[in-house]
This record gives sequence, C-alpha cells and structure tokens, in this order.
Amino acid sequence: MTPSETGIAQAARRMLSAKAEQFTESVIREMTRLALKHKAVNLSQGFPDFAAPAEIKEAARQAVADDINQYAITWGAKPLRDAIVEKFERTQGVRVDPEREITICCGSTEAMMSTMLAIINPGDEIVVFEPFYENYGPDAILSGATPRFVKMRPPENENSVWSFDEKELAAAFGPHTKAIILNTPNNPTGKVFTRDELEFIRDLCVRWNAFCVTDEIYEHILYDGTEHISMARIDGMRDRTIVINGMSKTYSVTGWRVGWAIAPPEPTASIRKVHDFLTVGAAAPLQQAGAIALKSPQSYYDKLASDYSVRRERLLKILSAAGFTVFKPRGAYYIMTDISRFEFPSQQFPADTRDVSFAKYLVEKIGVAVVPGSSFYNNSADGSSQVRFTFCKKESTLAAAEERLARLHA
Ligand code: GLN
Repeated sequence: MTPSETGIAQAARRMLSAKAEQFTESVIREMTRLALKHKAVNLSQGFPDFAAPAEIKEAARQAVADDINQYAITWGAKPLRDAIVEKFERTQGVRVDPEREITICCGSTEAMMSTMLAIINPGDEIVVFEPFYENYGPDAILSGATPRFVKMRPPENENSVWSFDEKELAAAFGPHTKAIILNTPNNPTGKVFTRDELEFIRDLCVRWNAFCVTDEIYEHILYDGTEHISMARIDGMRDRTIVINGMSKTYSVTGWRVGWAIAPPEPTASIRKVHDFLTVGAAAPLQQAGAIALKSPQSYYDKLASDYSVRRERLLKILSAAGFTVFKPRGAYYIMTDISRFEFPSQQFPADTRDVSFAKYLVEKIGVAVVPGSSFYNNSADGSSQVRFTFCKKESTLAAAEERLARLHA
C-alpha cells in the first residue's frame, strides 16, 4: 500500500467497530469456500454431505403446505419447546419448563451469542478450554467478556484421552468469573467429559458463583460406550447451567439454523430479549418439523452413532496411513491430528504457522480441505502442528480423500 492508501484505510477503520476489528472471518467457513474454489474434497467444515432423514424433510414440506409461514412466538414454537422438554427429560432426566426455560434461536451459534450478550457485563471473565470451537473467541469479544484459557493436553496413546490439569482450571476461576464455556462432546478434540470432571467443574462454579454454559450439540454422536452427561444433570448445577443445543448435527440439517438455549427462568428472560432483537425468531416451518424430528425413536439415535462410528474408523485408518498422528475422538465427528511427522521444507512451511501453510498446500495441491489447528487456539502458534479433519461425509467422499492423501507420500 502507498502511504496515502494507508491513510485512507486507517480513516475507514476509525468508522468501524473496534470489536469487529478484533477478529477475522471464520476460518472453518473460509475453508469450505476454498474447497469449492479448488474442487477439493471438503473435510473442513462440519456439515454432512449426505441426505437428511426423509421423514424430517417431509415434515418441513408439510409445515410450509399447512401455512406455518408467519412468525412463530419469538422464543420458539410451542410444539418444539414441548418436544425439547420431553426429550431432555427422557435422555438426561431433567425436567424443564417450556414456558420459562427455553429459547429457540437461529442455530446454536445464535443461542450461544444471545446467551453471552444476556449474561456478560464489562469486566466479566469466562473460562474456556483450549483448543476450543472458534466461535467462542468472537462470542467473547462481541459480548465484552475476557476469556481465560485452560489448555487440554492431547492423549499420549491410543487408550488415553484429552485431559486438563485441575490446578490450572482452578487457577483460571476467580471473583470476576461469570461463566465457564464447556463443549461436550467436544469440537475439535472429540473429548467427552466424564462425571468426575463435570463434578470438579461444578465445585468451581459453585465456589465462584459462576454459570456453566454448555454446548451439547454433539450429544448423540458418541463412540466406545461413552455416555453424554449434561451439566444440568449434575447435583447443584440445575440452576446455574445454560445448555446450548440444536437440530444441526443430530438430524443432519445444519442449514436449517434451528438451535436453542435451556436455562433457568432469570437468564432465559434475558436471553429471550436479546434473541428477539437480534433475529425475532428461527424459521417457523422448520421449528414445526423440529417438533417431529425430536420425537424420533431411540433406534434413530443408535443408528446415527453407529454410522458415525464406521466413518470414524475409516478416516482414522486413512489418516494414519497417510502419515498423520491421529487423536482418536470419543465423541463428535472430528479428528484432530498432529502433522509433526511430515518433513517440511522450512522456508515454505515456517514452524509457527505450519498448520496454515500445510492446510493451504493440502487444499491447493493435494485436493483435500482441512481446518488449520490455529483456528482453535488463542495464540496461533499453539496450534501450528495440528490440523482438524471431519468425517461427517459419505463413503465416496472419504474414499476420494483417501486417494488424494496417498499423494502426500509421492
Ligand atoms: N461446527 C462446525 C465445525 O466446526 C461448523 C459450524 C458452522 O460453520 N457454523 O466445522
């Protein structure tokens, strides 16, 4: 840029929000655009490339035909709120009030953002496990929260899982802590938090009078006999837990944008106000179809998990054969990998941004799109030896990735 261009850019920036200047566009969503541009196999953004269940699509068609085409009640169509109550009680044994404790939003992304805007005041801190789903960074900036990151350590072998240091977690809490952001089953690590871990977190929330905002969107995608335990079910946490969830991953409809927040009446009243003025409401006919989807029999959820288990095995094998160190997920549909075993010419792949140059190389030259590890860390160098793959894809997509990744050795 010439000096005068720099001046113009600076002047333009003064017209913009300093908050919006602090973060970039989503790298995950950018990778999908790059995959399209380079005709690469897209194992970056976590959306299924297979069909959604026929009954659920039919329910949406029917809702439009039945003229459910005007605004639903701002905090959510009654049939969907009732279905959420019924399902949450059936799966987690926790009874909530559909009139005072549920807000339906435009995807769990909006549910999370509305929640943050509803509970954060200047000076408030949030505790966030790292690596974390990239949205939580901008969520913190836009709501004005100061994040305190606590590292999770990768497993040392096949049989161990990602773990955190209890002392480090305890040290991240303090008098300014408003909430801890939890995501279980976890994106990107696949960690499923155990009851013991949840109880340890509970004790800290109680001690410091903090909320637990828990993103449970992958609740049904579990492997190896692991169990999803909602924080709302842990003794003493019912009144300080805000559960974020949605239809996207469970019913393979990420484009419908139907999510929700389950929270005690006081935070719900605040979340509903924020949500109302952000979006008014989620698509009414899709909420109607959601009420039917949530009544799916247990066999639907069992099959969802077993189909994903096959895809997990398939991608784990493909990646190991291609030379990645893989961290086996216990839930969700991502595989975090370590890329240190590859030999990189250091000029083309500088060490502290190796994940980005490697992801660029993969999408442009090998034809496979992934997410650079730095997208999941506060300091990008911390993720520079990792990249994330997703396996919510058809067998033919995984087979195409296998063929292309074999070129890494060529
Ligand atoms: N959760 C998905 C992922 O991590 C993406 C969600 C989104 O892009 N809104 O890839």
